[in-house]
Amino acid sequence: DLSLRLQKAAEFVPQNARLADIGSDHAYLPVALMLQNKISYGIAGEVVVGPYKSAQKQVAKNGLENKIDVRLADGLEAVKLEDHVSAITICGMGGVLIRDILQRGKEKNRLSGEERLILQPNVGERQLRKWLVDEKYTITDESILEENQKVYEIIVAEKKETIPEYTEKELFFGPILLREENEVFLEKWQYKLSKSERILNSLHQSDQDVAEKIREVAQEIEWIKEVLAHAGK
Ligand code: SAM
Repeated sequence: DLSLRLQKAAEFVPQNARLADIGSDHAYLPVALMLQNKISYGIAGEVVVGPYKSAQKQVAKNGLENKIDVRLADGLEAVKLEDHVSAITICGMGGVLIRDILQRGKEKNRLSGEERLILQPNVGERQLRKWLVDEKYTITDESILEENQKVYEIIVAEKKETIPEYTEKELFFGPILLREENEVFLEKWQYKLSKSERILNSLHQSDQDVAEKIREVAQEIEWIKEVLAHAGK
């Protein structure tokens, strides 16, 4: 069975999608979606030989060799435009790594711009959102969940005809998560607030030139307080 984290990501994959799952590890996500008949074709991309072999095994064990291609490749080099991929999942990595995979994929012409991107960064959500909006994607959905004492965010993005504008604050919290203000979201930011306050304290005690960093963290604290106050926390 899929973890709650991967189940949530799976929910955003459109019915009958041609899916590329990058950094697939055991290929759990594409295999589960194929067994549910939710996708019509899958690619499991892995850059490391061990996980690549695990993915091959998992696909073979389920008799899906003719429906899911397992490819040893760096990032989106696992995908060709001829594959007509309609959805890409990149889950369980840092947001900066996901961003770099997307950027290199774009430079190498692996993105048609028609794909739905379903991204689950473990950290670095803000940097990832920044890349998406710089590349004129619309953040169409977001989700936040807790599993085994960890909080995960899922960001879904697509290219639309009109290009929306986002504030820095929306990129920080996630435009949709900010609007929803659900319990997990508020807990996450309550925890981050005390952490940021500790960081600010130690910055004030630093004898290095940290003025810029102080401004940044102070801004974040202000935003977090605004959000928590708005939610009555
Ligand atoms: N996506 C699965 C999940 O969410 O459970 C596996 C996550 S695992 C922590 C990250 C995987 O990404 C590892 O198997 C790693 O080898 C792979 N990976 C890291 N960088 C990659 C890259 N540039 N291209 C393809 N795979 C990559």
